[in-house]
Amino acid sequence: MRVVVDKVEKRSWVEIDLEQIRNNFSIYKSYLPENYKIIAVTKADAYGHGDIMVAKTLAELGVDFFAVSNIDEAVGLREAGIKATILILGYTYPGDAKTLYDYQISQTILSKEYAEELYREGYRIRCQVAIDTGMCRIGLNANDTNSCSRLIRQYFRMFELEGIFTHFSVADSQYPSDISFTRNQIEKFGLIADSVKDLNLPYVHCCNSAAGIKYIPQVTKWKGIDKYVRLGIVLYGLKPDRGFAMPEGILPALTWKSRISMVKIVPAGSYVGYGRSFEAKRETKIVTIPTGYADGYNRHLSNNGFVIINGQKAPVIGRVCMDQILADATGIDNVKMDDTVILLGKDGGISFNADDMAELLDTIGYEVTCNISKRVQRFYV
Ligand SMILES: *Cc1c(COP(=O)(O)O)cnc(C)c1O
Repeated sequence: MRVVVDKVEKRSWVEIDLEQIRNNFSIYKSYLPENYKIIAVTKADAYGHGDIMVAKTLAELGVDFFAVSNIDEAVGLREAGIKATILILGYTYPGDAKTLYDYQISQTILSKEYAEELYREGYRIRCQVAIDTGMCRIGLNANDTNSCSRLIRQYFRMFELEGIFTHFSVADSQYPSDISFTRNQIEKFGLIADSVKDLNLPYVHCCNSAAGIKYIPQVTKWKGIDKYVRLGIVLYGLKPDRGFAMPEGILPALTWKSRISMVKIVPAGSYVGYGRSFEAKRETKIVTIPTGYADGYNRHLSNNGFVIINGQKAPVIGRVCMDQILADATGIDNVKMDDTVILLGKDGGISFNADDMAELLDTIGYEVTCNISKRVQRFYV
């Protein structure tokens, strides 16, 4: 059933196309060797798409492993009825060990010190060990294969050890030096994975969205590495990197809409918004839109972004306010109060997605969708 959200009285809202997320999942899977499985990364509220609905949708497609960023997200998924393995990719306060245990959540071992502190809490916790193969963020240093192997064996006795994983820092890059860097990360991880192969850990994984497309042949050379991809950004239809060649048919699942709260014509010479940063050079039709930086509409879009009205581009003029923006709709016909405008999405021939907005903001699509704030209600269509 498709919900027609435009008919709902909302100020600023997001529509998530779950069918598109299902499509993105299937298309991505079709690029992987047949026996590969997906770990769905639903951290940060599924990159702003709503983790519970996304996880339920994917669980129906057979996903039995989710990765999140923190214990609140993990507990949220459990309480929503997700029975799958849930891995927290980052830090959990060791004092929360009982919650990890009670909810049967898999915790990443960040370091030797972290493992010891967690162990002292006295619960046999489900765990996966992070291995640092070159990113210098979290994990045991992979340069010492023997010491890694020894610690993993130790954790196998101390915890309900389910796996080990590493993360690539430049899997999305096209540069030759980055390609050799990633190959080197794979090799370091492969050596460790092979060295603990006898433990038969169920989850030995390393690929993110980009690596799952670009590095499977290198990864499969290692017998100790399991056939898993931690799929994040591409699931939501966005690119890991500007230059990334997205598989055909994978498209953004998120549309951000708002409304016109007022239309007016101002004479040439009028100053628009805070700071008088925009001066109308001609008679201008201004629309006011009730979405602002408190909704996650980035303030750097002041005099820089645009919205889509009736299938046409309307530039954002003046500064983005906390709760409102102004756009120049001169030359666009039939513009009325209450009409829907598109902040992210497509209409007519115009398409403007989170990756496009990210380019204007000199950031990545990940940040754009994550930053759409909680007061912007998500609808599923
Ligand atoms: C976020 C994250 C992913 C997913 O990365 P994408 O680029 O979104 O596919 C995978 N692994 C780890 C450890 C992460 O933190």
